[in-house]
Amino acid sequence: MKSSEYENLVSEILACKKCPLYKSRTRAVPGEGPLDSIIMFVGEAPGKSEDEQGRPFVGAAGKLLNTLLESIGLERGGVYITNIVKCRPPENREPEESEVRACNPYLVRQLEMVNPRVVVALGRIAGKTLYEMCGLKWHNIRVARREAVKCRVGGASFKLIVTYHPAAALYNPGLREELEGDFRERIARITFQAAGRKTTLEDFILGEEKRSTAS
Ligand code: SF4
Repeated sequence: MKSSEYENLVSEILACKKCPLYKSRTRAVPGEGPLDSIIMFVGEAPGKSEDEQGRPFVGAAGKLLNTLLESIGLERGGVYITNIVKCRPPENREPEESEVRACNPYLVRQLEMVNPRVVVALGRIAGKTLYEMCGLKWHNIRVARREAVKCRVGGASFKLIVTYHPAAALYNPGLREELEGDFRERIARITFQAAGRKTTLEDFILGEEKRSTAS
């Protein structure tokens, strides 16, 4: 049931013409990952590589995201990843409010289907949009980074964490350090709590290493 609903959603996104972004896209990028993932990552919009391949976070920012996930013992294939808008804005400009609004029902449905315990908003646009979807007042990314907040969107309830977009950290070592710190400290801790793990992060990573050495 869940997977056929999901397939319908993907088909709708691939054929969508609800906002002008459909005119310049090569492919819409619905998102990917297990539908029972406890954590969902939400970026801003597809970039050039994503638009060409139809997959989220496959360019340079995606490589950094993969490294960040690995650094806390999560596999890319084990988490659900999507964007606020599913089609690439021309020249990678920010999506306009009307485009975000037009695309928003798809994200609501993804949240309800995956029903993650933790959602990580990557960057200002994702943070602001998810804050507003949760009925929370948005100030700025520095304020939002300070604490995880409880959110409900439709039938989904989750903890929302806001951090920087990996693309912003690619050429900014200071931001990259802060992003790595957010993954190590807040994202790992809250995800592990949500998963009910009793081990520490260090134990978990060491365990993963032992398992991969043994195989
Ligand atoms: S960005 Fe969203 S609303 Fe706009 S055309 Fe693409 S899928 Fe449809």
